[in-house]
Amino acid sequence: MNVSDSEKIVTLMKGIGYRQTADAGEADLVLLNTCSIRATAEQRVYGHLGKFKAMKKGKPGLIIGVGGCVAQQEGEKLLKKAPFVNLVFGTHNLHLLQKMVTAAEAGKRSIETDFLDDEKRFDLFPHAESEGGITRFVTVMQGCDNFCAYCIVPHVRGREISRSAAKVVEEVTALAAAGVTEVTLLGQNVNSYGFREPGEPDFADLLRLVAQVDGVERIRFTTSHPKDISPRLIECFAQIPKLAPHIHLPAQSGSDRVLKRMNRGYTGAEYLAKVAALKGACPGIQITGDMIVGFPGEDEAAFQETLALMEEVRYADLFSFIYSARPGTKAAEYSDEVTRAEKQGRLERLQVIQKKTTLQRNESMVGSVQRVLVEGPSSSGDSLFGRTGGNRGTVMPGDPSLAGRVLEVSIVEGLQTILKGEILHA
Ligand code: SF4
Repeated sequence: MNVSDSEKIVTLMKGIGYRQTADAGEADLVLLNTCSIRATAEQRVYGHLGKFKAMKKGKPGLIIGVGGCVAQQEGEKLLKKAPFVNLVFGTHNLHLLQKMVTAAEAGKRSIETDFLDDEKRFDLFPHAESEGGITRFVTVMQGCDNFCAYCIVPHVRGREISRSAAKVVEEVTALAAAGVTEVTLLGQNVNSYGFREPGEPDFADLLRLVAQVDGVERIRFTTSHPKDISPRLIECFAQIPKLAPHIHLPAQSGSDRVLKRMNRGYTGAEYLAKVAALKGACPGIQITGDMIVGFPGEDEAAFQETLALMEEVRYADLFSFIYSARPGTKAAEYSDEVTRAEKQGRLERLQVIQKKTTLQRNESMVGSVQRVLVEGPSSSGDSLFGRTGGNRGTVMPGDPSLAGRVLEVSIVEGLQTILKGEILHA
């Protein structure tokens, strides 16, 4: 979501005469788009601000702005703690950014962190720039109504709101016309997309509409809440050829007791039933997820249930995190904290198991033929990088002019973090 918001910020800043630089030392304006999902992310914000403060000493005209979830949460406090910051903009205030930067150029400090009512928010999904790119995000909904006990998102992003299907299709059509091959439909919980009015499209309908846009060859979406993934949506994997065979479906825990305390709205068995239905609809689907280790009250037995769930799903990849309390959330009030040493030990054990599964899965792809969307040169520059439908990063020899094409690639090696392949037909 932050990557997508940053793209929109770049578009807005170009509108008032700025251009992007990869070198912060060269910048006249630095906008820090922040995340507060975990304590470490939040601490990094202050680390970055320290660097920008030092830069400003040598360049007093430098404008520094802070946006995103930390800005939303801290508000005025941030301006006080960091007097060298010129502007603070919250998650509902991107549309005010041009005005705020212009005011900063005239020497005025400003802060905008008000949440907007739903009607105004409909107009505030700023279009990302339609020029260029091979794979792009398209926001379809924002906010979240779920209030998982550990999560700060509903507090800093506000309530759930869906964008009209017509607007989504319009943006995807413009991106396709600009040469974009793949779109990722984006939202905190895309599965609950829709206006919940009779006759209005739900997320499965939206996928079918987007699939009709000529030029778009591959569709992805993220993120899915397991409790909201419907049989209609699962069927899409069997029925829409453009829908990539990959789903990010965060379980967060395998223990029913912990899931209940997390307020996730499903049990381990219900989660696994949805995974089985997905594998039935789309054999070979790659499933990735998120797992929290050391949630308050998680004992060894509960942790073992998480490992058992992982064993059954066999995730292609898993983002695993040590729980950190976020002030203002329900879980921050829980007193039965797991010790730091236990959390660390469990995380390490979980990651060893997942690494093994990922490697086995990657190795099992050797000899298969995958449809790979070539995104451009690999990081080493001597080959091409692309992604399979299942979202596995793949490198292969080839000409850079193939970027943007979906090609058949024979997988010759499966490593821990990457596949190696050879293009069959260019
Ligand atoms: S579904 Fe839960 S974890 Fe996801 S954004 Fe909403 S509250 Fe946070």
